[in-house]
Amino acid sequence: MPVQQQPEPIFNQLDAFGHKKVVFCSDPDTNLKAIIAIHDTTLGPAFGGTRMWQYKTEADALNDVLRLSKSMTYKCAIAGLNMGGGYSVIIGDSRKDKTEALMRKFGRFIKNQNGEFITAEDVGTNPRDMEYIRMETQHVTGIPETIGGTGDPSPITALGVFMGIKACVKEQFGSDSLTGKSIIVQGIGHVGENLVRLLRDENVKVYISDINEERVGQIAKKHGAQAVSNNNIFDIDADIYAPCALGGTVNTQTIDKLKCSIIAGSANNQLLDEELHGQMLVEKGILFAPDYVINAGGIINCYSELMGFSKKRSLQLTENIYEATRNILRLSKSENISTINAANKIAEKRIADIKKVKSTY
Ligand code: NAD
Repeated sequence: MPVQQQPEPIFNQLDAFGHKKVVFCSDPDTNLKAIIAIHDTTLGPAFGGTRMWQYKTEADALNDVLRLSKSMTYKCAIAGLNMGGGYSVIIGDSRKDKTEALMRKFGRFIKNQNGEFITAEDVGTNPRDMEYIRMETQHVTGIPETIGGTGDPSPITALGVFMGIKACVKEQFGSDSLTGKSIIVQGIGHVGENLVRLLRDENVKVYISDINEERVGQIAKKHGAQAVSNNNIFDIDADIYAPCALGGTVNTQTIDKLKCSIIAGSANNQLLDEELHGQMLVEKGILFAPDYVINAGGIINCYSELMGFSKKRSLQLTENIYEATRNILRLSKSENISTINAANKIAEKRIADIKKVKSTY
């Protein structure tokens, strides 16, 4: 008889990730099944997206929300925001299962967190959904511009990724000019398309892939990019690989195939295993731009919405991603550690320092 593998007990998982709180939200009337994970609130309320995705199992959904919320703690810390880390996932197909009632019910669960969790859009959600959540709670950002929000954060996220790519190109090639460089953009959704536009404006040779092949054709035509099949992107010889779909695409199998010298994209949690794959990339001489550092533009935009900052201020903060990435690359080199460990070190130091401030008065 095959040995049945037991799932990891939930509290063990929370301990491993260092979470403060996880809320399971269930509402049979609207078919809502969601998880809100609050990782750390040292710097401020937990801030993070709401992802709607058809997870294969509930364990996959839990694992995703735990990983995403932890990286938000680090993302906010390194971007200099006074926010902690959280995330939420709604289990379901965003094209078929999303209704106003479901989103508003989810908004009520956020309301019940009394400001400890503030959300924004992510994969499978959009400003309209944030508007529904806003009907039930104030603890949401990324609402449409027409009702006083900053709208879709994706263009500014793409700008941050673009700055991160430039910082890496400077490190690997001695100049941050992108002229003559080539890049594979995997996933040409909200962020991916905006990134393709910025890259094409600098005449970069751009290869694009997506599971939605119809969209690949449209975007290739619109921006003068080259469409490639999602199955063989790792066979392409390009300078940069930009994962802009989902996480975990940098793993033992793909690292073996990768021909690029830089990985820099918007997807959260690109390394399947931070320690193992971060180190493998160092050994292969591939520079990895820590995802949570270079994809912080969107959260900076949402933070600006909360704080009432101007558009100019959010653009300045996002452009700072260039210097933040350069600092991480320097630390990684001087201490001979992976870039993800260098970024973690800077983020953890800020959290530890502010903890000391908060323990005194
Ligand atoms: P999106 O849903 O608009 O786009 C994702 C795209 O990836 C879609 O076109 C989808 O078809 C494609 N895709 C999904 N699985 C794929 C696969 N296996 N291979 C190839 N393509 C695949 O999402 P988005 O807002 O553009 O976000 C993209 C990534 O960036 C996500 O990981 C998200 O968490 C991250 N991110 C987004 C923002 C933001 O401002 N939107 C901010 C920070 C991080």
